[in-house]
Amino acid sequence: GSTIGILGGGQLGRMLAVAAAQLGYRVHIYAPDRESVAADVAAQHTQAAWDDEPRLAAFAAHCDVVTYEFENVPVETVRFLSGHVAVRPGGAGLEIAQDRLTEKNFVAGLGGRPAPFAPVPDRAALDAALEQIGAPAILKTVRMGYDGKGQARLATAADADAAWDGIDRHAAVLEGFVTFDHEFSVLLVRGIDGEVRFWDSPVNVHEGGILATSTLPPPRIVLDQQDEARALMARIAEELDYVGVLTGEFFTTTDGPVFNEMAPRVHNSGHWTIEGAVTSQFENHIRAVAGLPLGSTDTAALPVTMHNLIGGGIETVPDLLADPACHVHHYGKAEVRDGRKLGHATWVGTEPA
Ligand code: ATP
Ligand code: MG
Ligand code: MG
Repeated sequence: GSTIGILGGGQLGRMLAVAAAQLGYRVHIYAPDRESVAADVAAQHTQAAWDDEPRLAAFAAHCDVVTYEFENVPVETVRFLSGHVAVRPGGAGLEIAQDRLTEKNFVAGLGGRPAPFAPVPDRAALDAALEQIGAPAILKTVRMGYDGKGQARLATAADADAAWDGIDRHAAVLEGFVTFDHEFSVLLVRGIDGEVRFWDSPVNVHEGGILATSTLPPPRIVLDQQDEARALMARIAEELDYVGVLTGEFFTTTDGPVFNEMAPRVHNSGHWTIEGAVTSQFENHIRAVAGLPLGSTDTAALPVTMHNLIGGGIETVPDLLADPACHVHHYGKAEVRDGRKLGHATWVGTEPA
């Protein structure tokens, strides 16, 4: 049989590995962390650093194709592996998505509309950026941010010092605060032959910068604005000659969809597709990178609710299991920490009890 290599060992890799196994593949996880909830369900695990070239070469030799579940895999790692084995999607989208400033410029260049933004490489640049953007605004580190980490909100210009310290004085970008009605995501998969399919867009609710729920059907305004957002994401995928699942996060506003950020991978707001769509984001990602025909992205039944289990929320699993309509996903992480994504629950064709 064939082997699919996955870079990264988190829950996204775990759900990709399950989907790959269902299609008959063996999965080999490569991740630096000693603990890996993806490796727990995979045939093989290499625990080594991202720059360990001998181990990377051995991993590549063992895999028929390599993909990633973690957007901060160093681009050099993907470049090195690409000399030995097909890596899908390639490094282009990864490199762009790792840098918020590059990403916003790239997307704006393709006709997308991010919130007004200005680069903040140092403290002095923050004052200039505030002059340009105004307040309220959000300061975000250019690299490595996730789940709202590495962000500071500025109600007025007087918050500049606190915000700069709050992001540990890293290179950043200042964004105008968007007054939005709703947040939604565009989930697409692009096949090896360039075919693009979209799942229905869920409406996403964040709490404290972390995704709390994804729900379908979304409000009318999301349905009205998703076509423009989809067209942009398809252009991005095309431009990158992208293969696999690509996600875009958007705000609905009175002026149309505003681009927030993209992820060159399967996405938390697509977890509902495991039970709520004919083919899940995980299965279609595996199909795409393996060069197989794509499955239908149609929604199985409405309504759909995906509820993240974050930190202590994992303790509700026994109650959720008592609801016969609830699909429970426990990621098997050993450590319960505040703000850590530990599982999710999905209801399809029925509201949560
Ligand atoms: P993720 O885990 O999605 O990668 P992240 O750390 O990259 O998160 P963002 O998506 O940039 O963070 O922001 C997290 C949330 O903060 C958004 O989903 C949105 O709710 C809010 N937010 C971010 N930027 C803005 C903005 N410019 N205006 C208003 N709200 C915003
Ligand atoms: Mg992000
Ligand atoms: Mg986000």
